[in-house]
Amino acid sequence: MTNRQRLILHSALNKIKQMRDNLISKTAAFIGHQHCYFCHQTSGLLTCQYCEKDLLNGPQSNIFLTHYWMHSTRVNLLNNPKINKHLLTPNYANLIVLSEYKWPVDKLILDLKFAQKVYCAHIITDWFIKRVHPLCLESIEALVPIPLSHLRYMRRQYNQAQILADLLGQHFSIPVINPLARVRHTQAQAKLNPEQRQSNLKDAFACVDELPYQHLALIDDVITTGATINQACSALQAKQADLQITVITMAISLTSDAKT
Ligand SMILES: [Zn+2]
Repeated sequence: MTNRQRLILHSALNKIKQMRDNLISKTAAFIGHQHCYFCHQTSGLLTCQYCEKDLLNGPQSNIFLTHYWMHSTRVNLLNNPKINKHLLTPNYANLIVLSEYKWPVDKLILDLKFAQKVYCAHIITDWFIKRVHPLCLESIEALVPIPLSHLRYMRRQYNQAQILADLLGQHFSIPVINPLARVRHTQAQAKLNPEQRQSNLKDAFACVDELPYQHLALIDDVITTGATINQACSALQAKQADLQITVITMAISLTSDAKT
């Protein structure tokens, strides 16, 4: 198979996965609607009004980075030293994150990724929409979910980043595109140090479509050192050198080793 044929195949697989994930997400919206995810009381909402009030305004609410940074449009978390010191030198211009990777967002993300509870994506994106000023996303022309490798996709049956991107795209009326393909399987990042993370992901992504855009947003569930995001940015920038990239994730892990 030539390189060009391989990229065409990746592009076709991306489109099939996007349609499949969209269907899974729509189905998930109807599941879990009888009980509140947190207190299990009968509720017509995924999070009942009492839990939502508690979680968004109670003692835990200080994990929401939005609380301090996002009520205005000055939201670039790369300007926050506490956050910046955890990241490998970013090759993206702007970072928007809902929350620290702590309760309750960590549980929502773990259940979304490993317990097949796709409706958790609806809870997280609903909070994101409530917390983030819409002007922050104003100049973004399209959302690009970070793809999973085919192997991981087959195991999980959906890509959580795709589902998050679809829900945000629907709300903010921004198209979701899939120009990135994971061209080789990589080790899970969780147990690797920042340098290992970077080399584990080298050339893991390729951009398989044209990019007639000036400003895209990469969407992922969690950012730790940003190694995955950096590699995805490189693949996009190889196609379109002066592309502006904003990174949007639902959480940031600040407990791993800081970059050295
Ligand atoms: Zn509740």
